[in-house]
Amino acid sequence: MRIRIHRGTREIGGTCIELESAASRILLDLGLPLDATDPASAPLPGVDGLADGSSGLLAIVLSHGHRDHWGLVPRASPRIPLVMGRATESIMRAAADFIPDGVALNAAQHLEHGKRMQIGPFAILPRLVDHSGFDAYAMEIEADGKRLFYSGDLRAHGRKARLFEALIETPPRDVDVMLMEGSSLGRLAQDEAFPTEEALEEVFVERFRETPGIALVACSAQNIDRVVTVYRAAKRTGRTLIVDAYAAEVLKATGTDSIPKPVAGWPNLAVFIPQRQRQQLKQKGIAPLVDSYRAFRIWPGQLAGHGARSVMLFRGWMMSDPDVVNVLAGARLFWSQWDGYLRDGSPGAALRADCERRDIPFEVVHTSGHASPGDLKRLAMAVSPRRLIPVHTFERLRFPELFNNVMLVDDGEWIDV
Ligand SMILES: [Zn+2]
Ligand SMILES: [Zn+2]
Repeated sequence: MRIRIHRGTREIGGTCIELESAASRILLDLGLPLDATDPASAPLPGVDGLADGSSGLLAIVLSHGHRDHWGLVPRASPRIPLVMGRATESIMRAAADFIPDGVALNAAQHLEHGKRMQIGPFAILPRLVDHSGFDAYAMEIEADGKRLFYSGDLRAHGRKARLFEALIETPPRDVDVMLMEGSSLGRLAQDEAFPTEEALEEVFVERFRETPGIALVACSAQNIDRVVTVYRAAKRTGRTLIVDAYAAEVLKATGTDSIPKPVAGWPNLAVFIPQRQRQQLKQKGIAPLVDSYRAFRIWPGQLAGHGARSVMLFRGWMMSDPDVVNVLAGARLFWSQWDGYLRDGSPGAALRADCERRDIPFEVVHTSGHASPGDLKRLAMAVSPRRLIPVHTFERLRFPELFNNVMLVDDGEWIDV
């Protein structure tokens, strides 16, 4: 088996790793580069058969549903089978009608935790991991008697932290090459750690208690861990979490009983559909979609009465909604995503400026979707691969300082496993 990383040896974004055994190949991830302004014109990696689906390229395997791991798939030949988690597929489908450049990808096969699958000469054992993206997998891959372990994106401080501990306790054995993400390197010092989702819940509880009006939380509806954190903090402070139709559909699409969603049995949850979204649903002919949660609806004209008893999952464009405008007295806004999205010129910066104009206090309450350096060290020690190759990092030169057996490679270089 040999591999080449098309993108990711020196950056986060555009992840794409090609594996070859005999005359067969698969791709792990096919992400959109972070610097790509237009997905339609970003160049495809130089992988034979990617554009025309010609022989030998057996599948594209997606570790999870973040765009930096699947964003170029719509540009690839539709003849190439896709493999991803079941919830990843259904969340993407649910989101497709609501987000710009949303697409519904069809999986030919699903990754399942602990269930080995065979794609040509490649035996793949997916392992569900803790990450800010739901249904994310690391993968052990065996071919030609060689073993590769790809971490995907992962962390140890989220709501599924026990999955990381399980990985440490029963790590993949006899690994020839480990491809490990290093997103946190350069963002945190070696001895620093990101706060846990549980610690974040405590912060939200405190902040919601101090907020006289509605608490607006700007986070991704697809960051399911975070939505759960916000929901729990809302419930603990006697508030109702208000979500829009997009978040409602994404929560339903998780297909997981323990995730709050607008179905019978979930208290402290309501659905408010902003005017612009109501129009969108009509235009797309999908208005009946929301009928199933009529009982959870806060209707136009009713939101103002809910301010002090509510937390709302929020995005910048909602600020001008006529109902939202009427519920802003005493409101506070909590930014609960990467602060990189607050850089000058970004939509986050515009939201912050909007809050300033409206005298709405703005505060960042967030934790990373990626493992702290200390947790990466624990993982590398547990797996102890013969060679450890950095991916998904801007700081590959930090790897040799922190981990054993590091091999630095270049984008596009073939490596024998
Ligand atoms: Zn991710
Ligand atoms: Zn990523």
